[in-house]
Amino acid sequence: MVTRTIEPVSDGLAQRIGVIGAGYVGLVTGVCLASMGHNVTLRDIDAAKVTALNDGDVPIYEHGLTELVKANDDRLTFTLSMDHLVERSELIFIAVDTPPTYSGDADLSRVRAVITEFAKAGGGEGQVLIMKSTVPVGTGERIRAELRARGLGLVGYCSNPEFLREGTAIGDFLRPDRVVIGQFEPRHGDRIEALYRPLGAPVVRTSVASAEMIKYASNAFLATKISFINEIANVCEEVGADVDVVARGMGLDPRIGPSFLRAGIGFGGSCFPKDVAALKQLAGDSGYHFQLLTSVIEVNELQKRRVIGKLKKHLGDLEGKRVALLGLAFKPGTDDIREASSLVLAARLLAEGAVVRAFDPVISDGVGERLRGVDMCATAEAAMADADAAVLVTEWDSLVGLDWPALRSTMRKAVLIDGRNALDSEAMIGAGYTFEGIGRASVRSRAVTELSDTQDRR
Ligand code: NAD
Repeated sequence: MVTRTIEPVSDGLAQRIGVIGAGYVGLVTGVCLASMGHNVTLRDIDAAKVTALNDGDVPIYEHGLTELVKANDDRLTFTLSMDHLVERSELIFIAVDTPPTYSGDADLSRVRAVITEFAKAGGGEGQVLIMKSTVPVGTGERIRAELRARGLGLVGYCSNPEFLREGTAIGDFLRPDRVVIGQFEPRHGDRIEALYRPLGAPVVRTSVASAEMIKYASNAFLATKISFINEIANVCEEVGADVDVVARGMGLDPRIGPSFLRAGIGFGGSCFPKDVAALKQLAGDSGYHFQLLTSVIEVNELQKRRVIGKLKKHLGDLEGKRVALLGLAFKPGTDDIREASSLVLAARLLAEGAVVRAFDPVISDGVGERLRGVDMCATAEAAMADADAAVLVTEWDSLVGLDWPALRSTMRKAVLIDGRNALDSEAMIGAGYTFEGIGRASVRSRAVTELSDTQDRR
């Protein structure tokens, strides 16, 4: 349970807030603002989501969110109706999805739909639209032009990009390291700044274009750090160094810092891959070739595939081999598998003819098409039974804390790839695994030994 540390504003200061899009960002934004004492109307077009929320069920996995919804239900309204939202709100956050198109550009069709619906619902003077969705630089300017063309030039518009991370979203929202507000008119930015004031975070007031760019540049920089340390890890494997120690040694330099220096099997999720691609496209569309980001993306793709090479090194041809994928979410603490490394791994393994079994502590169904051909298991133990290899894909605590020595004896062969450098390599080797991490060349794998048929594997 997340404890509320922000005093709710008094009734007189409570704002009438709307949030369009009740996904990972919109729902957390709305619920946190309600916890700060504001009256919040959340609108989504997904009827199942709205029904679930009205029934008190939170449709996403996010630590503490269910409790926070319950604690503030008197200040929260969930609706399918844009008319309802427009009627009840003055400050209106837009938090719809902006997924990538085939070209890598951000798909703004949902954002455009929102503007059309807002106009149709009678939105107008006195209301401020606040863009929380990640949108390419120039989007705010285009929306302002469209509002004017519709005779809605007096509607305010601000950019207020969101930096929360799934898994720690509530804490990130209520204790942000910065709040970025891009404005066309200072009086609109002032209203948003007042809303965030109780959080005590540094506020960056700027133009709409710069605010839009801050979001992309931040995500692209973090993704670059990940691809950089992953390349260092790959070199470590060649030259006999240990990337975990290297990263620690680097991170103690305050100019570098320790965060985002954890080697692994690449970044995924709904933000980094799409935002890096969108910034690269944005640069390209404006005539600048962003060479560095091209490499960041390529390194990330190759990093996911290196796991296949490691499996082949120990198992040979993967045709008919049984591989257990442990963890499917793109990171612990969420049920989000958008652009997760697990999807690429599963598809590559199936293409090699392997039998793929998978387990995730919070994802059991609803993965349908995205993991077609993968046998979903109810427990990690079931996924690993009789497997030739296991890959730790997502470092959930419950997976890191498995009884690995006991599980080893249930496997047919015992190749273990730690895709997140979360396991104790010496202990795993001691337990009899043929073990590989990422960038940890100090670990010499033992020869794969077939367990004798007489050995009890269960
Ligand atoms: P999401 O897919 O979880 O949620 C989007 C929601 O918007 C969905 O519920 C969808 O049904 C709804 N929607 C679509 N069109 C709508 C409309 N016309 N009216 C009302 N609702 C509509 O997406 P998300 O992960 O919350 O991301 C939203 C935005 O925030 C994206 O631009 C994303 O890049 C950005 N962002 C995401 C994160 C994150 O960690 N997920 C962090 C920072 C920023």
